[in-house]
Amino acid sequence: MSVQVLAAEMAEVELKDVPSKELTPESPLTTKADDKGIVESEPKAAVPSATTPTMEPIVKTGDPSPGFLTPNTKMPQASAMKRTDPQQNGGEAFVNRDGTVAEAPRLKKIQFADQKQEFNKRPTKIGRRSLSRSISQSSTDSYGSAASYTDSSDDETSPRDKQQKNSKGNGDFCIKNIKQADFGRREIEIAEQEMPALMALRKRAQGEKPLAGAKVVGCTHITAQTAVLMETLSALGAQCRWAACNIYSTQNEVAAALAEGGFSVFAWKGESEDDFWWCIDRCVNLEGWQPNMILDDGGDLTHWIYKKYPNMFKKIKGIVEESVTGVHRLYQLSKAGKLCVPAMNVNDSVTKQKFDNLYCCRESILDGLKRTTDVMFGGKQVVVCGYGEVGKGCCAALKAMGSIVYVTEIDPICALQACMDGFRLVKLNEVIRQVDIVITCTGNKNVVVREYLDRMKNGCIVCNMGHSNTEIDVASLRTPELTWERVRSQVDHVIWPDGKRIVLLAEGRLLNLSCSTVPTFVLSITATTQALALIELYNAPEGRYKQDVYLLPKKMDEYVASLHLPTFDAHLTELSDEQAKYLGLNKNGPFKPNYYRY
Ligand code: NAD
Repeated sequence: MSVQVLAAEMAEVELKDVPSKELTPESPLTTKADDKGIVESEPKAAVPSATTPTMEPIVKTGDPSPGFLTPNTKMPQASAMKRTDPQQNGGEAFVNRDGTVAEAPRLKKIQFADQKQEFNKRPTKIGRRSLSRSISQSSTDSYGSAASYTDSSDDETSPRDKQQKNSKGNGDFCIKNIKQADFGRREIEIAEQEMPALMALRKRAQGEKPLAGAKVVGCTHITAQTAVLMETLSALGAQCRWAACNIYSTQNEVAAALAEGGFSVFAWKGESEDDFWWCIDRCVNLEGWQPNMILDDGGDLTHWIYKKYPNMFKKIKGIVEESVTGVHRLYQLSKAGKLCVPAMNVNDSVTKQKFDNLYCCRESILDGLKRTTDVMFGGKQVVVCGYGEVGKGCCAALKAMGSIVYVTEIDPICALQACMDGFRLVKLNEVIRQVDIVITCTGNKNVVVREYLDRMKNGCIVCNMGHSNTEIDVASLRTPELTWERVRSQVDHVIWPDGKRIVLLAEGRLLNLSCSTVPTFVLSITATTQALALIELYNAPEGRYKQDVYLLPKKMDEYVASLHLPTFDAHLTELSDEQAKYLGLNKNGPFKPNYYRY
């Protein structure tokens, strides 16, 4: 089987009154696949990530597996998919191509557990805690959702010291407490309702298993949303073993529900660094089971396999990577000629970018500010630094709430966009004395420096929505004359000698990831993209993908979006034959060239 069958079924769902005749127009808008199915984007576009450092981007898109989104496969039409029951809906070593292990360029220092340390000689509890502070930076550039609701921190026993079995007697997992499974199941069911695309994929597969034989090892945030993804992969035929990509983000009750459901999960909230690598190792180091697909978030799992089990790559068909950091590592490997399997860059797919940056921030900026400060937005003067995707989202939300919004920009194009959208473009020093809220979202450093912090008015709220905590010069506030008062979790008052205080949120780290939750619907986009990328890489015929990093084929990106449309009872217009010919498009997409900016 194949993805073809799945695709055929997908087509069946929506092909109500579609003429079967298919156009194959020659058009400057259509990308041309070479005979091996590889499509080079034209021109080479930059990877649209503000945080991706300066290496030359390699942007390739694959042509999807024949059949999965074949030209005569139509996108689902909301009109044909009536909404029904929502439930339905140090130096790093890498392997060379010849199999030898070599030092890779140092990309980002991973705080590796001492390689010589035996796993079963674990540090003491205190040791575990101190180790844990240094870890998992790499996975903070992707989203987890709400933290675990069941805080079982009163149970001090390390899960590694417990013998647990699920109700069927299976003990191939390591989690905090299997007894939390029922509660976790409810969390998963709630998430399912906001993840319509994955539920649709399950339904459409209907017995067909595009991932039959796939052995997926995953390392992501272990949350209810990930559980919906894992259960979808399983429904599509995959076997899964999973570890957490972040030592704090695991929802223990969800891990319990997954273990109860037969998944081999190795994760709990509050792992030490040693636990973190031990869990990853337990996922891959198992007699009689070898992964053939990797789903990674942050690159730590990929790194571990490169470092410890390089021979595994002989059987691995591909890597799907979600995070900025992980993707960066893959591009570096590729550039150095050391990537030994095809990899799919999910992070830079259009739908994910739009949802993570624009739509998610449009909602979570208000959520983050409200939860931390209870501020009223109406009439407040706000300056937003940076009018990229994140800045546009923040500005739109605040404007809608009645705030008076100023924008700073360095790029005249974005600056002009801000003007056209009705925002006053200013330099920060022009408004810094009068504004009530300062928000940075530039991806840059030292945007708000001490000089500006000194000039802010009493009570000014300062926060950052950009990737790293470099945008506000927080270090400059740690001087003897200033007093810091922690007034709430993630809220500090910094007090000047004259009594003026500013309200600093999350110590300048990403406000929304630190202080609010990410809507499940946003995570649904990512999870669906991951599932499709796995299906594509797993089913791609030999030679379609080389040892390189690819963007998700445009058609699949469109498909991810289309799978979410029925939620809104949205009715997509179909091109007529005549119109398709006129535009030089295939009626079933892709509808835009790779260089199109949405
Ligand atoms: P972007 O590149 O589209 O926008 C950044 C904008 O900032 C650009 O227009 C740039 O010209 C401008 N800029 C740079 N330096 C500036 C300066 N000194 N003063 C004023 N403007 C300046 O990027 P984006 O997608 O909007 O992302 C912005 C940041 O937010 C990145 O660091 C990104 O990783 C991060 N991000 C955060 C979230 C979140 O949930 N908080 C989600 C996605 C991305």
